[in-house]
Amino acid sequence: MSIRNKLTYQFILLTALLLGVSTVAIYIASSKFRQDEFYQRLESRAYNTAKLLIKVEEIDETLLKKMEEDSPIKLPEEAIMIFDYKDSLLYADGEEGIMKVDRELLDQIRLEGNLEFKTGEREYLGYLFTDDRFDRFAIVISAIDIYGKSKLANLLRVLLIVLGIGLIVVFMVARLYAERALNPIKGIVEEVSEISGDDMSIRVDAGNGKDEIAQLANAFNNMLDRLEIVFKAQKNFIANASHEMRTPLTVISGQLEVILLKDRTSEEYKEGIKSVLEDLKNLNQTTNRLLLLAQTSSEQTKGVYAKIRLDDIVWQASSDLYKLKKDYQVNVSFDDALVDLESFHVKGNDQLLKTAFLNLMENGCKYSNDHSIDVELGKEGKNITVVFHDNGIGIAQEDLKYIFEPFYRGHNVEGRRGHGLGLSLVKRITELHEGTITVNSEKSKGTSFKLSFPAA
Ligand code: ADP
Repeated sequence: MSIRNKLTYQFILLTALLLGVSTVAIYIASSKFRQDEFYQRLESRAYNTAKLLIKVEEIDETLLKKMEEDSPIKLPEEAIMIFDYKDSLLYADGEEGIMKVDRELLDQIRLEGNLEFKTGEREYLGYLFTDDRFDRFAIVISAIDIYGKSKLANLLRVLLIVLGIGLIVVFMVARLYAERALNPIKGIVEEVSEISGDDMSIRVDAGNGKDEIAQLANAFNNMLDRLEIVFKAQKNFIANASHEMRTPLTVISGQLEVILLKDRTSEEYKEGIKSVLEDLKNLNQTTNRLLLLAQTSSEQTKGVYAKIRLDDIVWQASSDLYKLKKDYQVNVSFDDALVDLESFHVKGNDQLLKTAFLNLMENGCKYSNDHSIDVELGKEGKNITVVFHDNGIGIAQEDLKYIFEPFYRGHNVEGRRGHGLGLSLVKRITELHEGTITVNSEKSKGTSFKLSFPAA
């Protein structure tokens, strides 16, 4: 069911409930009022008739009947019977036999004073009349409240018509109201359906910018901004990755073609193969990094975490680097705060962390003239920190905010080999371990990368 219909029906249900309850309350109150008023009239008729018959000596049964015949205050279909204390009928008026009065009823009237009851349309009042001589007369009077009931029926008709018209009006107003309230959402739905992967520049109209729908539109626009960035980054990533793969492949095939142009000495072939091999290693490294970047981008990597020691990882990374580049030097030191072996523990994946540390160590040596880096393990509150500090060429301020982007290479590279993938990988791995990475750098002075991981 659409929200518009739901709102309309809820509105109608609520109004119907309110109107219905009011209608029933008005009808019950009016009905009670009619009944009370009618019994009062019966009582006053009973009292006056008895008073005339019993207290006024000049009036006897026959005269009273005559007087009553044309009385304008006589009730419709009225019948009255007056009995003395011996249950003898003193006076009866009205259609004969219409009232069945027995001894039991008279006793009950004498016992209770006033007795109200009804049979069908006819309403009865049993009334006890006492005169000055303490004679007790039991009177039974009954009539049909034709006018009262017809007024009540009329009232019910009016109430039902008002209820019906009220519900129809509410239905129309509610539909209009719901449509107006939901119109902006309809607009958003239409605008959103225009958005596609090819054109992510479209934004939703935020209307007056204040109400909930504007908040929804703004939230949606913000999400689109973020998605557009990711989408563009993804496109750039694929373009950059293809470029990074194609360049060495073109170089390799060019080199091989040149070698094959003419017969060469075995020395020349060796040189050629060496150069191709170097390019292939490079290509292999790029492929491996790309693969790792893709793997670390999926949250599933988190599943394989174990308790590991960070100092072990630092040592392994530094020995791996030594195997790769004999002239690179890593100096490891420890903060005094790390008193026992337990304090080096973090939860993580040792291979991923080793890759991150190796990248930072390699960068530190690559971008410094003395090809050395200082690595210091320390503690800050509940976190273990690893600082990679070099006294190298430093990073320009304008480069600093981009260095963690895939394929970004700073202005300082000056012919040094690389693909701009290392730091983005380091950042991703750090975040996967719920750690943080910060960088401090000054041109020609050096660079410090500080990694912080929650201790296990
Ligand atoms: P690559 O080193 O392959 O270019 P990275 O992602 O590892 O790619 O680094 C990105 C950029 O950050 C580098 O191109 C370089 O400009 C800068 N950079 C990284 N580490 C250092 C460092 N220790 N000293 C100076 N510049 C650095």
